[in-house]
Amino acid sequence: MSLVNMRDMLNHAYQNGYAVGAFDLVSLDFLEGIINAAERCDAPVILSLAESHFSCFDFEIIMPAVVAAARRTSVPVAIHLDHGECLASAVTGIKLGCNGVMIDSSNQTLAENIKLTRSVVDTAHSCGIPVEGELGYVPGIEGEDAEKHPGKMAYTTISEARTYVEKTGVDFLAVSIGTVHGRMQGEAKLDYLRLQEINDAVNLPLVIHGGTGLSDDQYQQLINRGVSKINYYTSLADAAGSQIRANIQKNTSNSYTGLASGVKEAISNEVERCINLWGSAGRAKQLITQCEAWTPVEHVIIYNVNGISNDETIAMINEGKTILSSIPGVLEIVTGQSIQNDDTYRYTWLIRFCHRAVIESYRNHHLHVEFADNLFRPVAGERISIDYQTL
Ligand SMILES: [Zn+2]
Repeated sequence: MSLVNMRDMLNHAYQNGYAVGAFDLVSLDFLEGIINAAERCDAPVILSLAESHFSCFDFEIIMPAVVAAARRTSVPVAIHLDHGECLASAVTGIKLGCNGVMIDSSNQTLAENIKLTRSVVDTAHSCGIPVEGELGYVPGIEGEDAEKHPGKMAYTTISEARTYVEKTGVDFLAVSIGTVHGRMQGEAKLDYLRLQEINDAVNLPLVIHGGTGLSDDQYQQLINRGVSKINYYTSLADAAGSQIRANIQKNTSNSYTGLASGVKEAISNEVERCINLWGSAGRAKQLITQCEAWTPVEHVIIYNVNGISNDETIAMINEGKTILSSIPGVLEIVTGQSIQNDDTYRYTWLIRFCHRAVIESYRNHHLHVEFADNLFRPVAGERISIDYQTL
């Protein structure tokens, strides 16, 4: 079980001069290819799911597979919502198992960007989850991802970076210093001096979007100046596409599995190349000792009701499930009724939180306070409630 706190992961990378790959996945071939490469290299990795790719897969359906892959592997993994568009996106991502979220309001004014980012930071931090914000604008030039990021490049400025970080409380900062989303045309001209000055000003793990197409030396120069997370997708998509094209040209199969054969391995080979290039290979064992293990907390209540019928009890439970499951950081609610004959405690709630930080934010959340004060506590006088860290 190696799902770990992403803040600890990136702080380790920042302090030790390497970058963790945040590889965007759009299918199970990507998921398996990325995890297999991380395991071969004994490297930490970030499984990244971009809201701009949600037309390619069902986010709610793919996330249980992503969480299962992260829990099964022995290398340290974080699961990140990439390019979250609003607060509701972040809350949904957290509910489905992301333990890092990006809010991308970089196309708005500085004041609006700060306001929206601050609201996401407040909510995510109340769930124990770190936030990546973006300042400046990384546009798309060419390729599948480019059209998702229209417009002109806006470089991150040092003074705005300082203000943005202070006022929002973000944990990681995505910067615009010359990279582009999608494919590069010619060689990227990267503003290293600007990057160095941003790093000196904010002293936080920095993030590069549009990681595809840089030279080996360019990656190293970025890492030397505080870049600790590199977002990477276009080359993986191109490697997968080239493999399918080669399968077609070989003309040995016309079936889906035949045409897709070798795709996972092609993705995995490209991920492995990046991991070796960015210095994260061989870091897993040391890193894992420096990271909080990311394990849910279970809030358990066993109780009896007095003064209402069984039907009224079921109605209260169903209303509670609907209301309480919308509170940020709640992963799941399971309710039950005793199957024993003795009536010591007849009903139970099991509420799974993404992190122990949610114990407090849930208790104080107005939806919980209203439900507990008006509908639950008046009828559930006899109850035991305990929070468990899952093992
Ligand atoms: Zn991006």
